[in-house]
Amino acid sequence: MALGYDVLKADFALCTGTRTGNQRCNGTIYVCGQCGARGCKQTRVGQCSDQAFSVLDQCLKCGAHAMQAAS
Ligand SMILES: [Zn+2]
Ligand SMILES: [Zn+2]
Repeated sequence: MALGYDVLKADFALCTGTRTGNQRCNGTIYVCGQCGARGCKQTRVGQCSDQAFSVLDQCLKCGAHAMQAAS
């Protein structure tokens, strides 16, 4: 049962996007202080459907370096 694991992790902001290979991302969510985009950070662009930041902490939407931890 994966349900208990999801409940345990509910206190953290986790990415619900899909990674290559159809696996759920579960990466840490960050927020852009410039445009408000939310998403995870991946080592390469396009690794997750909800990716918002590059490995250089740069927002993929507006290009700002204003990555903040999501509350
Ligand atoms: Zn942004
Ligand atoms: Zn993700």
